[in-house]
Amino acid sequence: MRIFDPHIHMTSRTTDDYEAMRAAGVRAVVEPSFWLGQPRTSPASFLDYFDSLLGWEPHRAAQYGITHHCAIALNPKEANDPRCVPVIDELSHYLVKDHVVAVGEIGYDSQTPAEDTAFAAQLQLAHDHGLPALVHTPHRDKLNGLRRTIDVVRESALPPERVLLDHLNETTAKEAKDSGAWLGFSVYPDTKMDVDRMVAALKDFGTERVVVNSAADWGRSDPLTTRKVGDAMLRAGFGEDEVDQVLWRNPVAFYGMSGRLGLDRGRPDTPYEGNSILRGEE
Ligand SMILES: [Zn+2]
Repeated sequence: MRIFDPHIHMTSRTTDDYEAMRAAGVRAVVEPSFWLGQPRTSPASFLDYFDSLLGWEPHRAAQYGITHHCAIALNPKEANDPRCVPVIDELSHYLVKDHVVAVGEIGYDSQTPAEDTAFAAQLQLAHDHGLPALVHTPHRDKLNGLRRTIDVVRESALPPERVLLDHLNETTAKEAKDSGAWLGFSVYPDTKMDVDRMVAALKDFGTERVVVNSAADWGRSDPLTTRKVGDAMLRAGFGEDEVDQVLWRNPVAFYGMSGRLGLDRGRPDTPYEGNSILRGEE
C-alpha cells in the first residue's frame, strides 16, 4: 500500500514516527503551515518556521525515504493577532519556491472579521501564484463555518476545483462536495472523525476527489491513521484500486496542480547545512 499523507505537521513529530510511517507505506507528505500552540509575536517568527519547512524538515523526512512538501500561509487562528498579520506581505517570497505545493492552511477558526480578511487575501495569493489552496474548516459551529467558507471561495478568483476543504465530517461533506471542491477528512484517534466513520463516509460520498489525512501534530494524534483507513477500507470491501485512489492518486492529483510535486527527490545521507539527524555519530 503506497500512502501520501496530504496534511501532517511533522515539525511536531519524532524520527520514530518517520520510521513507523515509512514501514506502514507512507512515501510522501505535505506539511501545511499552522499554529504551534505557543502564540508567535512577530512575522520574523513565521519566516524561520517557513524556512524550516523548506529546509530541515524535508531533509529529515528524506532520511526515512519520505518525500516532504509544504503549504505556506498565515494560519486562521493567528490571523486574529495584529502582530502576526503583516506576514501576509512576505508570503510571495515563499510561494515561488520549489517545495511549496499549496497555500495553506487558511480558512476559519473562530469565524471573525480578521479571519475573513486573511482568508480572502490568501485565496487571491493562491490564484496569483498558480497554486491550489488547503482550507481548514472550523471545528466549532461546523456547518455555518463550512457555508461561510464556500461563500468566500465563490467570491474569490480561485476556482473550487483548486480548493481542498479539510476537516470535514458527515455534517459538512455533502455541501462541500456540491461546491465542486476537493474533500479532505482528518482521521483522529479518539475524537472527531475516526477510522470506522471514515470508511462509512467513503461509502456515502465515494472516492472521487476525496483525500484522507492524519493531521497529526503536537496534540493527541496518530501519524499512522492513513494506513489504518486503508486497511479498514479493504476489510469493508473496497478494492485495492480504490484504496490507492484515496491514499495516493487523489493527493498526487490535487497537489500536482502546483506543477511542483517531485516524488523522487529523497536524498538520504546528505547533511543539511552541516547537520545530520545522527547528531555527530557519522
Ligand atoms: Zn493542520
